[in-house]
Amino acid sequence: MENKDTQPASNNFIKSIIIEDLKNNKNNGKVHTRFPPEPNGYLHLGHAKSICLNFGLAKEFGGLTNLRFDDTNPVKEDVEYVDSIIEDVKWLGFDWGDRLYYASDYFDKLYEFALQLINDGLAYVCEQTPEEVKLYRGTLTEPGRPSPFRDRSIEENLELFKKMTNGEFPDGSRTLRAKIDMSSPNLNMRDPVIYRIKKATHHRTGDKWCIYPMYDFTHGQSDMLEGITHSICTLEFEDHRPLYDWYLDVLKTPCHPQQIEFARLNINYTVLSKRKLLQLVKEGYVNGWDDPRMPTISGFRRRGYTPQSIRDFAERIGVTKAESTVDYSVLEFCIREDLNKIAQRAMAVVNPLKVTIENYPEDNEDYLEAINNPEDSNSGTRKIRFSKTIFIEKDDFMEEPPKKYFRLAPGKEVRLRYAYFITCKEVIKDENGEVVELICTYDPASRGGNSPDGRKVQGTIHWVSAEYGKQAEVRLYDNLFLAEDPDNVEEGKTFLDNLNPNSLTTINAWVEPMLLQAKPNDKFQFERVGYFCADAKDSIDGKPVFNRTVGLRDSWAKMMKK
Ligand code: ATP
Ligand code: MG
Repeated sequence: MENKDTQPASNNFIKSIIIEDLKNNKNNGKVHTRFPPEPNGYLHLGHAKSICLNFGLAKEFGGLTNLRFDDTNPVKEDVEYVDSIIEDVKWLGFDWGDRLYYASDYFDKLYEFALQLINDGLAYVCEQTPEEVKLYRGTLTEPGRPSPFRDRSIEENLELFKKMTNGEFPDGSRTLRAKIDMSSPNLNMRDPVIYRIKKATHHRTGDKWCIYPMYDFTHGQSDMLEGITHSICTLEFEDHRPLYDWYLDVLKTPCHPQQIEFARLNINYTVLSKRKLLQLVKEGYVNGWDDPRMPTISGFRRRGYTPQSIRDFAERIGVTKAESTVDYSVLEFCIREDLNKIAQRAMAVVNPLKVTIENYPEDNEDYLEAINNPEDSNSGTRKIRFSKTIFIEKDDFMEEPPKKYFRLAPGKEVRLRYAYFITCKEVIKDENGEVVELICTYDPASRGGNSPDGRKVQGTIHWVSAEYGKQAEVRLYDNLFLAEDPDNVEEGKTFLDNLNPNSLTTINAWVEPMLLQAKPNDKFQFERVGYFCADAKDSIDGKPVFNRTVGLRDSWAKMMKK
C-alpha cells in the first residue's frame, strides 16, 4: 500500500523555478502568489487548477496567496460573480487571510503611473478609431505604422488625457497608448492601449471614472503593488510577458514580479470558457451557473463533488507548458476515490421490477442489519425492514440469460443484499409481453445473506421494500456535450450544435426510508448504482432530490446510459 504522507510531493517546472529562486535568495526568500479572476462569470474547473496551483505553491513554501479581482471592465462585471468566486475559492479549502484585493483599488495609482509615462514621453493620446488602430498595427509579417498622433508634445498629451478623464470625449474616440515600437515582431508591443474611455458605472468605483485601464497595464502593476513574487498565468499571456516587463521596467518599480505561464486545462465533452458558459446560462440551455451539468465549481459542488476530489484532480493532472486535453474519466476517478471513503451506503432501485416472495409471511417484523460504510469502521450499521413484496432493478433479471449471468433468471437463485437467497419461480408479463413481476421463493435459513449449507450463490443484488420503501426524485446526468471537443464544428455550426439533448434524465426511484431524512449535500453510495448527493437547492425537508454524482465504474455508467 502506498502511504500518501510519505510520498514525495509531485514536481512541476514552476516548483523548480521557485526552489531555484529560494536557493538564490531571490525576493528575500519569499513566495507570494495571487489568484486574479475577472468577476465576469462563475469559476470553472480550469480556474480550480489555477487556484490549486497558486495557493498550493505558496502553502508548500510557507508563502502567501492573494485573491484579487481583476475588475477593469465595468460592462461585463458584477457583484454576483464576486460573491460566487469568494464562495468557491473558500469551498475549495483555500484562505487568502485579509488579502482580498480589487484591481479597482489601484485605479488612483494606475492613473499616476499613466501620468508618469506621459511625462517620460512614453505614452500619448491617440485619436484613431479602433478600426484604424487595428489597420495601423500591421500583421505578423508586416510591421505596423505609427499613429499620426504619436508625436504629440508632453503638454498636449497631459491636457488631452485630463479631458479624457473628465469625460469630455465620447466612448471609443480617444485612447492613451504606450509609445513602444510599431515595428516590433511582437504585436503586443506595437503601442498598446493603456486606457480607454468607457462611460459605465463600475460595481465598486461607481461613476468616479469614465476611463478604465487595460488588463495588460493593470495586471503587472497590481502584482507589483502587492509584492507578488511569482505571477502565474496561462500560456496565452506568454506573448504579453515583454509588455508586462516593459511597464515595470520603465516605471522603475521597487520590485519586479516574474510572470510564469503554464498550459490551461482542457477537458473533453465540455467547454471551459466563461463566455460560452455564460451563453449556456443566458440562453437557458442549463438551469443556471450551478446546474450540476456545468463544469463550474458551483456545478460540481451541487453535483456532489467534494473539494478534496477537485484538489486531488488538480494535483494528478500536473502543470506543464504543453497544451493537452484531460480525459473526463480522470475527474470521475478522483471523486469516486473520495466518495468511496466517505459516502454512506444505501439501497435504491432506479428502474424497478416488482418481486413477490410467495412463501414470505405477511406483516412480518423482520429488520435486517446493513453496514453503513465498509470503508469506515466507525460508521456503524442500520436496520432495514424486509417485506413480502420488494423491488429489484429491471437489469438484474433476464428471462434468457447468457452463460455468465449471475443475477436473477427463471429457476435461478440470487442473494438479496443483507437479506435472503431468493429463487425465481414465475415470470408475469403484461399484454405487450413485458415482464412486470416476478414470483419468487426465499430460503429463511439464508437470513443475512449467508449460505445455510455451503451452496454457492454467485450474484448479489440490491432491493427496496415495496411496502416500507419510499419514492424519491433522482436526476441522472450525462455529458453536457456529445462531442469530445464541442468546439470542433463544421462551418455554420457552433458548440451549441453539440449539446447532448439527453444530458438530464429525471426519474422516480424507490429508496430505503432512511434516505428521506437526507439533508442538502448529504452524499451516498446507492449500492451497485452510483454515488448520489441530495440536491442543495431543490431538496425540501423529508423530500430530498438526488443528483447522480458519478457511476460506480465506467462500465456500469455505460450500462446505465442505455
Ligand atoms: P475564460 O477563458 O474562461 O474566460 P479567463 O482566463 O478569462 O477564463 P480569468 O478570470 O481571467 O478567466 O482567470 C483567472 C485565472 O484563472 C487566470 O490566471 C487564468 O489564467 C486562470 N485560468 C482560466 N482558465 C483556465 C484554465 N482552463 N486552466 C487553467 N487556468 C485557467
Ligand atoms: Mg481573462
